[in-house]
Amino acid sequence: MLRRCTAAGVGAVLAIGIGEGPAEMHQARDLCRDYNGQPGMPRLFASAGIYPHNTPDADDEAIARLDRLLSEPDVIACGEIGLDYYHQGAPHDVQRSGLIRQLEVAAARKRPILIHCRGTNESADAWNDLFEVLEEHWRQTGLGGIMHCFGGAWEQAARSLDLGFLISFAGNLTYPRAQPLRDVAARLPLSSVLVETDAPWLAPGPMRGKRNEPAMVVHTAETLAALHGIAPAELASVTTANFAHLFHLNLPQIA
Ligand SMILES: [Zn+2]
Repeated sequence: MLRRCTAAGVGAVLAIGIGEGPAEMHQARDLCRDYNGQPGMPRLFASAGIYPHNTPDADDEAIARLDRLLSEPDVIACGEIGLDYYHQGAPHDVQRSGLIRQLEVAAARKRPILIHCRGTNESADAWNDLFEVLEEHWRQTGLGGIMHCFGGAWEQAARSLDLGFLISFAGNLTYPRAQPLRDVAARLPLSSVLVETDAPWLAPGPMRGKRNEPAMVVHTAETLAALHGIAPAELASVTTANFAHLFHLNLPQIA
């Protein structure tokens, strides 16, 4: 899968370290250990974090493990963390306190955050609660982050930009019914956009319904490039630069 990623021209991957719960937060870090530096592999980075519905397991031990993982050089982000009111799961107040604890750890380790946010029936309720938390506990860090698999409206996109976040689009950007999302994507400054898989979900366009994987992100990038009237290669270099800027990385530009 990683070789297909390289062959598709995707040179860097941020692997999400949430696992099935906090006991597996290290698994994305392990991918970095196993594959970085090997021929034919993309440059791998990892996150670590406790997903909203796993926050009932965010006990002192899990938070201490998160803190240790975030101290490692390849673990460049804390996430996916956030609020999910769309699926039944952890109570909202538990999600909120779990999020705040992780913000404190991420701030101390100077790691940008990867936010997962989804409201009840796609309403803005979780977004409103999220922005309240970020204003109180994150803005002043200046670390920013990524709104992962963005599915909000322009208002949420604009508030995210104001908080110093990048907006990341997954394969659903390509779906026929996603015109409102494409309208938001087209209004964003190019300096604020990223593309991602949300693998194994949301395989883009021609691959819809299949298991998503990093190589397929090129289809999402093509859609985003077309929305901005630029060539896919230019979009690729823009998203690479945005990623490198947020995480203070030196990444080789993809030709
Ligand atoms: Zn998510």
